Amino acid sequence: MSLWVAKVIILLATIVMVAIRAPHGQRRRGIPAVRNRKGKLEIVLLTIAWLAFFLPVIWIATPVLAFADFALRPVPLIAGTVCLTLGLWLFYRSHADLGANWSLTLEVLEKHRLVTQGVYRQVRHPMYTALLLYSVGQALVLSNYVAGLSPGVTMAFLVALRIGPEERMMFEEFGKDYREYMALTKRLVPGLW
Ligand code: SAH
Repeated sequence: MSLWVAKVIILLATIVMVAIRAPHGQRRRGIPAVRNRKGKLEIVLLTIAWLAFFLPVIWIATPVLAFADFALRPVPLIAGTVCLTLGLWLFYRSHADLGANWSLTLEVLEKHRLVTQGVYRQVRHPMYTALLLYSVGQALVLSNYVAGLSPGVTMAFLVALRIGPEERMMFEEFGKDYREYMALTKRLVPGLW
């Protein structure tokens, strides 16, 4: 199967992801933070995540990663496209539900509100679920060991190291309300985990 099919799908998915995130990034700049948990580890992880995010673009645009290409098969291509689509839908929904409370790093913003509705009613970290689903989709569609796997591995590390501190920060800010919310929801997979 021709590599260009995978390249077109990954390019489209990347454009949709950037388009979903862009307006939120812009709005976030206008809202002051009242508490920030951006430690050194967070900065290092975010930088690595950014670099890993660009690897698929480098794979699409240049031949530098061609040494790690492998043959694309129809089943992973279809399964991966389904994961990418679901991941992007959940990425969109979680941004819409979190609204003005979203930020790239761990911080509490001015007039921060605890969101427990929409996809946040199902799990506490739908955006991380979305990014993990997207990463699985990318690994399946992108037939290159380096560009396909690096974003997912980085994302898994980022999520694993971030969820605990993020929940502690939310608990310190929202106390009993967050504890009750925790009792009603799972972290990443509805009803399971
Ligand atoms: N972990 C969440 C949000 C990611 S964005 C998810 O995966 O969907 C990160 C920011 O969202 C954090 O800095 C925190 O301030 C904020 N946040 C996380 N959960 C929240 C919630 N339930 N309500 C409001 N803000 C939340």
